[in-house]
Amino acid sequence: MAAQHQVREAFVALYGAEPDGVWAAPGRVNLIGEHTDYNDGFVMPFALPHEALAAVSRRDDGILRLHSADIEGGVAELRLDDLAPETDEAWTSYPAGVVWALREAGHPVTGADIHLTSTVPSGAGLSSSAALEVVVALALNDLYDLGLQRWQLARLCQRAENVYVGAPTGIMDQTASACCEAGHALFLDTRDLAQKQIPFDLAAEGMRLLVVDTRVKHAHSNGEYGKRRAGCEKGAALLGVDALRDVPYADLDAALARLDDEEVRRLVRHVVTEDERVERVVALLESGDTRAIGPVLTEGHASLRDDFRVSCPELDLVVSTAVAAGALGARMTGGGFGGSAIVLAEAADVDTLTKAIEEAFAAAGHTAPRVFEAVPSAGARRVS
Ligand code: ADP
Ligand code: MG
Repeated sequence: MAAQHQVREAFVALYGAEPDGVWAAPGRVNLIGEHTDYNDGFVMPFALPHEALAAVSRRDDGILRLHSADIEGGVAELRLDDLAPETDEAWTSYPAGVVWALREAGHPVTGADIHLTSTVPSGAGLSSSAALEVVVALALNDLYDLGLQRWQLARLCQRAENVYVGAPTGIMDQTASACCEAGHALFLDTRDLAQKQIPFDLAAEGMRLLVVDTRVKHAHSNGEYGKRRAGCEKGAALLGVDALRDVPYADLDAALARLDDEEVRRLVRHVVTEDERVERVVALLESGDTRAIGPVLTEGHASLRDDFRVSCPELDLVVSTAVAAGALGARMTGGGFGGSAIVLAEAADVDTLTKAIEEAFAAAGHTAPRVFEAVPSAGARRVS
């Protein structure tokens, strides 16, 4: 693969020696199960062919050197002993955070030279940040013989992002990047991290899944995420459960009747119905009824738009246009307030749908979206 050679060559040019190896970790798209991962619920991501590639060598002198081909600026040189949470606002906080989290957990990492590049669009809700974290974690796990399992690496990466970078995220993104398999979606129970690989080979059945990156990121998204999280915790506390995951779908109406606060009621309704939708999608895929997941995706979008209120005009426009133009189903994916939507379509309809979405964006005066096909791809791995 050309990209691997380029990463190696760039590493040699920067650091003056061959890297110990090259690792890859993908971005992800979430098929269904949105805003459930911090409610101990279910998610179902799959890995994108877009990925971060890192050439890495170990060092034994307590120094971490970092370079990204995609960011202006030279090599950042950090001392491991100086790493401290929320002291770095730059991209380097993601890989440095992983090294910090590993060391904090007692793993004997003594330094590294890292050069990386990524084809995961940044800030598009496709988890470029998790790809960066996981590629570094896997490389160090191998180079330092740490013997950590994939789910443990994901946990450490989540800790890096939550504590070191200071960005509240659930466990989905890092687990997807670390654990997904080609041709499958990953059914993940975020409470105990139990996993099941669900065959998801759309091409074999004459379908495609499009990702539509709206290229907008509304500025208030972080604050709104925090509010939703807090609202969900309040709902769980009022209902006397550890997490909203513990409210059975069959008991939803009774649970809602116990809540006075309309805002909390809407959040609870989204989370409980979304967990049920994930289970429905798993059952449909396992029974081979793949086309029937389309309406479930569209239902999930309505819930995110009307109850959880994390959509935005651009995402709603993708979904309404796609469904009107004959898509099997569509929904926003990722945290919301911009980022990307997914569209499930018959292969024969892809061009018509793409054109309809592009025209709708042009007519509304929005920036042209980026549309690409998402093929369920491999998770993180050593590539050389
Ligand atoms: P998302 O994960 O949805 O893409 P985030 O805001 O969580 O969005 O992460 C994006 C950040 O990750 C960027 O601002 C940058 O700091 C870092 N990042 C992503 N890709 C790269 C890259 N190729 N090189 C350096 N930093 C990157
Ligand atoms: Mg991210």
